Amino acid sequence: MKVLVPVKRVIDYNIKARVKPDGSGVDLANVKMSMNPFGEIAVEEAVRLKEKGVVSEIVVVSIGPLQAQETIRTALAMGADRGILIQTEETVEPLSVAKLLRAVALEERPDIAILGKQAIDDDANQTGQMLAAMLDWPQATFASKLDIADGKAEVMREIDGGLQTISVELPAVITTDLRLNEPRYASLPNIMKAKRKPIDMKTPDDYGVALDIRLEQITVAEPPKREAGVIVDSVAALVDKLKNEAGVI
Ligand code: AMP
Repeated sequence: MKVLVPVKRVIDYNIKARVKPDGSGVDLANVKMSMNPFGEIAVEEAVRLKEKGVVSEIVVVSIGPLQAQETIRTALAMGADRGILIQTEETVEPLSVAKLLRAVALEERPDIAILGKQAIDDDANQTGQMLAAMLDWPQATFASKLDIADGKAEVMREIDGGLQTISVELPAVITTDLRLNEPRYASLPNIMKAKRKPIDMKTPDDYGVALDIRLEQITVAEPPKREAGVIVDSVAALVDKLKNEAGVI
């Protein structure tokens, strides 16, 4: 069984994003970049399926600049077998990502595509859903548990007020939620081994996909600064503030 795992290179989740002074976007100059955390969870899940003997090959794909090779190498060091970099310096919106992933899926014929539920830079939460629609595959989004057996994937999903378990026929698209697993750190020997694993270099043109821009980003702003709190000396004072200052009761 083959798994396709798309991973995005994003601003590291530990970094506090700085907005450019003109509000045109987030300043990425000299900022640490890493694999999208939900992508790490997707790679980890694929590696666990391989360790269980369910999966025989894990192909990782990233769409982005040349440096996204490092992201792919990280996945290879975690246990993926080979990578594909679709290299572009352009902005790639989720619809174009989904079109490229569809083309890769048609070439590679995986049994499962495991994506992150969202990329933490744009928080789009669209790619997996669009990919499933374009391939006409079932989708199980926000997976917090995954079992594969008899040509089906059983997926537990955290939903409002409880847990839902669904079953989908393979091939299918799965997207990962935070609680699916805890990704491993690659060991030094595995980092060394990953250097010898192959990465195919491609471009969007190789797949005949134009990177159309459909969204215009109007402005990006920092969240409002939190103001200092106050300590009230009685319940009556708290109620008074909630009623007359915050206006919430
Ligand atoms: P999004 O819909 O942008 O929030 O992204 C959801 C998931 O789609 C990510 O967790 C990745 O698995 C995949 N994805 C999005 N953008 C890319 C990209 N540029 N390269 C590879 N995978 C991507």
